[in-house]
Amino acid sequence: MSPVSTEKWQNWAGNQQVTPRRVQVPRSTAEVAEAVRTAAADGLTVRMTGTGHSFTGAAIAEDLLLRPTGLTAVRSVDTASGLVTVEAGLPLHRMNKLLDEHGLALANMGDIQEQTVAGALQTATHGTGRDAAGLASQVAALELVLADGSVVTCSPDERPELFDAARAGLGALGVVTAITWKTVPSFLLRAQEAPMKWDEVLARVDEFDAANEHFEFYWFPHTEGCLTKRNNRVAGPAQPLSKFKGWLDDEFLSNTLFGGINKLTHRVPGAAPFVNGISAKALGARTYSDTSYKVFTSPRTVRFKEQEYAIPREQLVPALRDLRALFEKRDWRISFPIEVRLLPEEDAWLSMAYGRRSAFIAVHVYHRDPHEEYFRGVEDLMTSIGGRPHWGKMHTRDAAYLETVYPRFGDFRALRDELDPERRFANPYTRQVFGA
Ligand SMILES: Cc1cc2nc3c(=O)[nH]c(=O)nc-3n(C[C@H](O)[C@H](O)[C@H](O)COP(=O)(O)OP(=O)(O)OC[C@H]3O[C@@H](n4cnc5c(N)ncnc54)[C@H](O)[C@@H]3O)c2cc1C
Repeated sequence: MSPVSTEKWQNWAGNQQVTPRRVQVPRSTAEVAEAVRTAAADGLTVRMTGTGHSFTGAAIAEDLLLRPTGLTAVRSVDTASGLVTVEAGLPLHRMNKLLDEHGLALANMGDIQEQTVAGALQTATHGTGRDAAGLASQVAALELVLADGSVVTCSPDERPELFDAARAGLGALGVVTAITWKTVPSFLLRAQEAPMKWDEVLARVDEFDAANEHFEFYWFPHTEGCLTKRNNRVAGPAQPLSKFKGWLDDEFLSNTLFGGINKLTHRVPGAAPFVNGISAKALGARTYSDTSYKVFTSPRTVRFKEQEYAIPREQLVPALRDLRALFEKRDWRISFPIEVRLLPEEDAWLSMAYGRRSAFIAVHVYHRDPHEEYFRGVEDLMTSIGGRPHWGKMHTRDAAYLETVYPRFGDFRALRDELDPERRFANPYTRQVFGA
């Protein structure tokens, strides 16, 4: 094991920081187990981080921080079954390339591919889908180091309760050292992106959901403008965006120009409605097809803070109308579009879509802008309809609330009491959401 000197850690958005007492980079499951045992002997808490893309303090390591960079091996690829086992710290972008080389792919994923596989999984990272669910539904087995330093595996057949709890486990049940993914044959997606007016999107959202494998849309606050995205499987050959068009849309308009806009609205918040009107028009219609992960994900270089709530799918349209009404009442000036995604129900106990078809509503602000009033206003609305906060995105919920919206929350806490009675894997965030 190669210890590195104590250093400050901060997350991608820069809103979470800590200087852990120790930092280590384990290079094998055995080294993780040894680190956990040593930490226990010294009375230290332990946490492995991913790439710090959570906006919450989920990855804060107060005592021993285990960096994931030494745990990136690919253990096995079985193209016949689609089962692929990789170590916890492998970044998603490397796994996506690896899968593609073997003619395989994840069935669905979120907007970016920078996270580690374990970090993304532990907060139930998701994209949008009619049939294909989030990452926690694409796992066949996990290998974990528990608080007593033992190494266990779990799957639907082996310790099924641990499997259902630990897939979206917030790092609270153990250090995940390897994940076996259930992959599918690689596929191309045809992306149809089109601007559309708010009224039309709300009137047709059920139709779009039923007719498309992956439907999502963005609403540009203070305007009537939305950008809809429909992704569906298509036979080849791929027709990717030209390098220039890809750069213009994904790099320049979505990141460089958008970054400049946010620097402006940071100084002149009143300009947000005007520039949102321009943004809604600038991101026009386009159609292309490409390898699935290249369509699902895109670069995000403008730093922001985010809150996202999962609500029952049938509540989506009324919730959006209420959200828009809030914009009429409050003095908010918001330059970031609001993202709406859909997901089938999931079965990992703490997946935000556990047991119900869900709609996700995500709100963002530029990383230097204040978020408190806006996020709180949206959060009040979302919690009034049983919303569940994304574990990796900012929220103020505690255990008393969370147990009312997660049917298996008590079972999760009981399992945690059994496996980690001394709270080896605790941090301020787990104390907030689990209450101990
Ligand atoms: C630009 C951006 C875009 C995003 N897009 C999406 C999206 O489209 N959909 C979505 O759902 N989310 C999205 N997110 C949120 C992000 O996917 C999650 O916050 C995810 O958890 C981050 O992964 P990470 O590797 O950075 O993990 P971290 O944030 O570093 O850690 C997340 C949690 O996992 C734990 N953890 C990490 N590794 C291990 C391990 N080996 N064993 C046990 N616990 C571990 C950490 O301790 C922490 O509790 C986005 C975030 C950003 C910044």
